[in-house]
Amino acid sequence: MMDINNLLRDNIRKLVPYSTARSEFKSVAEIYMDANENNFPHTHHRYPDPYQMSLKNAVAEWKSVSTDHIFIGHGSDEIIDLVIRAFCNPGTDAVVALEPTYGMYAVSAAINDVKYRRYLLDREFEFEADALIRFFAPGDKVLFICTPNNPTGNAFPAEKLEKVITSFPGIVVLDEAYIDFAQTPSFISRINEFPNLIVMQTLSKSMAAAGLRIGLSFMNPDIVNIFNRIKPPYNISGVAINEAVTRVTRRDQVLPQIEILKVQRDSFLIWLTTLPYVVKVYPSQANFVLVKVEKPDVLYLHLIGKGIVVRDRSGQYQCEGCLRISIGLPSEMERLKEVLVNFRQENSL
Ligand SMILES: *Cc1c(COP(=O)(O)O)cnc(C)c1O
Repeated sequence: MMDINNLLRDNIRKLVPYSTARSEFKSVAEIYMDANENNFPHTHHRYPDPYQMSLKNAVAEWKSVSTDHIFIGHGSDEIIDLVIRAFCNPGTDAVVALEPTYGMYAVSAAINDVKYRRYLLDREFEFEADALIRFFAPGDKVLFICTPNNPTGNAFPAEKLEKVITSFPGIVVLDEAYIDFAQTPSFISRINEFPNLIVMQTLSKSMAAAGLRIGLSFMNPDIVNIFNRIKPPYNISGVAINEAVTRVTRRDQVLPQIEILKVQRDSFLIWLTTLPYVVKVYPSQANFVLVKVEKPDVLYLHLIGKGIVVRDRSGQYQCEGCLRISIGLPSEMERLKEVLVNFRQENSL
């Protein structure tokens, strides 16, 4: 069995973490004179809980995991950075990602002066597990796999992921930012099988709380403890913690919306194939679709001219001609379709 501590950077293993006033005294007192707060009563005049236990309790109940397996980041982006900082020695170690994919893995690696090694997905945005495993090299410490993948929309089969997680000699991060829109189940229920697995989710997409900056992650408690030692002490604001608890406990309000978005996505995917300038529509298990068109730059600007902004992904590997379109409200999809149909007409004049 893999010892996570052997994977850690030396300086992180030796680190004496900052100890907050709130972690040194965890009980309830009458008067707090330990944190240099302004004790006149205001909302949020106290430092928040550094470990966000109220939110972890809500998430634990929701995801059926215990709180010691949960780490909460200031968005998934903070978690991506923490993984790289904990495990990768600048200048020598590498992270691996399957391209095309989410851009933050490469940016975070670059910020930390860590090599970023791209493994290229095939034309259908799939990979062969054995070939990926052969690609692994000494110095690879973290493997990022985004499933369903952004910007391609496909989710990778569980058997393939399993094989890769057990074969990779470092930390595997499964980024499940779009899992609530997918048919494939989350790997959260399987974190106990894989000590080197981190499953990331987020409140930013399906849960409609991008503004709160709440990234969720699930893993073996040894890794949670490492992250707790190196994160900024109060990484989640008290406002965000409270709002997130409310969103999680009232999640029945967003669940029907997710169903509507999935239905909108599936019908939009079919509808898109009827447009003459559409070259290819990729299947999607997320709340966006990737579509290859004849003149992506012209269409992109045309949409902007009509007040609709989509993402031009044509510069990414294997994405020539591709736009990524987020699924909006039914009324927004109707307006988009109207503009897309007119583009055909204007183009053929
Ligand atoms: C949007 C997105 C996230 C979410 O990031 P947050 O920092 O939690 O908002 C994470 N991963 C991928 C692949 C995404 O597309």
